[in-house]
Amino acid sequence: MSETAHRYYRPSSGAPLSGIMTMLTVGTLAAAVLGAVYGAVSYYNPLIYFTFIAAAIFGAGVGMAIRYGARIGRVRNRKVVWGVSFVIAALAVYLCWVAYVSIFVQHHANAEVKAAIGPVVMDPLVVGSLIQAFAKQGLWEIKGGRPTGWALYSIWTIEALIIGGVALLTAVGECIPFCEACHRWTEPEDLDAKIPLENAVEFAQALEAEQYSKLLEINSGTVNAKDCVHLTVYGCPMCEDSDHLTAVRKIFVTNDKGEEETKEEMLFANMIVPHRVIEGLATLPVETQSDLADDAELASVETEASSTDDDRHEPSAV
Ligand SMILES: [Zn+2]
Repeated sequence: MSETAHRYYRPSSGAPLSGIMTMLTVGTLAAAVLGAVYGAVSYYNPLIYFTFIAAAIFGAGVGMAIRYGARIGRVRNRKVVWGVSFVIAALAVYLCWVAYVSIFVQHHANAEVKAAIGPVVMDPLVVGSLIQAFAKQGLWEIKGGRPTGWALYSIWTIEALIIGGVALLTAVGECIPFCEACHRWTEPEDLDAKIPLENAVEFAQALEAEQYSKLLEINSGTVNAKDCVHLTVYGCPMCEDSDHLTAVRKIFVTNDKGEEETKEEMLFANMIVPHRVIEGLATLPVETQSDLADDAELASVETEASSTDDDRHEPSAV
């Protein structure tokens, strides 16, 4: 762990049992409902490319449900979030097979077999043996061929990895700071002030070293609106003791097709910054080339004034 690790948000080990149960309930419900839809889509529309896109949507839906469960259940422990999400992601893959196999049985089995098995085939052994039978015979044709055996197993493996992988990554997502004192999640707010790219590293270092008086000089460059650093504060809505700053370089480019594209590059995430400094940053003007000279002048005055103070003086409103 680096020397400055203490300057960044570290999730607590908080994982209330009720929160884990919420994750499991919401995640399993989503996996069952979306799994049934996905199973039906793959049965009636077995086009492989379409299936892969549907698999990603299915995974994302399950992932969002798990994430929602973790949020309302206030599960902060990242390892617990990963673990529970993994279990539900695997369950989602299984449940879409349950749906597929159940639809297959309804269409192909005779009345006697249907009565014996029931409308939903939940038994893993039956599901497994039907999957083996599908692999032997093949299920659909592509470019005149009918994939069977390992070719089909490979496709199913990719499909399962898409569903499970997208579900897991969506569920875990980026780390949102939690205010332990108020027992609630922080909320994001984008600051209007932008940091010129050439000052970005210095800006990050000053914040990390808690040398807040340096911030004004640093911010006095030219902001290129198409390529600069954007700031987002994750703050507690209840108190002023839980502010975290995330800085992302955003580059707006026009691609070959003439479409606007945004590229993002994380500069730092969730750095702990005092509320008064955040307030100072929030009141900094959004600088442009034309008013640069005035601001630079102002900044130098402010810096002189604050240099007599301690080094942790915040940038006051300019
Ligand atoms: Zn708070």
